[in-house]
Amino acid sequence: MRFLQELGSKHPRLMITGKPLRDQGLVVDELFSLGWKDEVLWELLTRPLPEPLRKSVSAIIAKRLRDALESPLPGPRRTPESETTPTPRRHTAGAHAVIRRRYECEGQDGMCGLPVDVQGDLCTTCSRVPEPAW
Ligand SMILES: [Zn+2]
Repeated sequence: MRFLQELGSKHPRLMITGKPLRDQGLVVDELFSLGWKDEVLWELLTRPLPEPLRKSVSAIIAKRLRDALESPLPGPRRTPESETTPTPRRHTAGAHAVIRRRYECEGQDGMCGLPVDVQGDLCTTCSRVPEPAW
C-alpha cells in the first residue's frame, strides 16, 4: 500500500485512495511476494495513461496489476544449478503422459511439489525463501 501511496505522491494523476488503494495494495504485496521488483512495477504503473481517459485511474492501475500477476516474472530466470550445488539431477519419468489440471511447484530443487497454477511457478512458501547466503 505504501508503494501505491508513494506512486500517487510522485505522480498525482495515478493517485488512488480508499478501498481501491487497499485492494490494489494487496495485489502489490502479492506481486512483491512473487519476486517482482518495485522498480519494475513502478515502470509498469507509470506508463502513460490512455488519452482520452475513459476509465478511472484506479481501474487502469487495477488492470495493470492484474496483467502483471498473470504474466511471468520479468528479468533473467535464475537457474538452481551452479558449481556449489552438487545435487544430482532427477528425472521425473512420464510426467508428460499424465494430464494435470495443475502444475507442481519446482522449488527446493524440484522436491516441493505443491500445486501451483502456472507451470514453472513457485508456491508461496518457496517464493519467499531468501536467497542462499553461500
Ligand atoms: Zn514450493
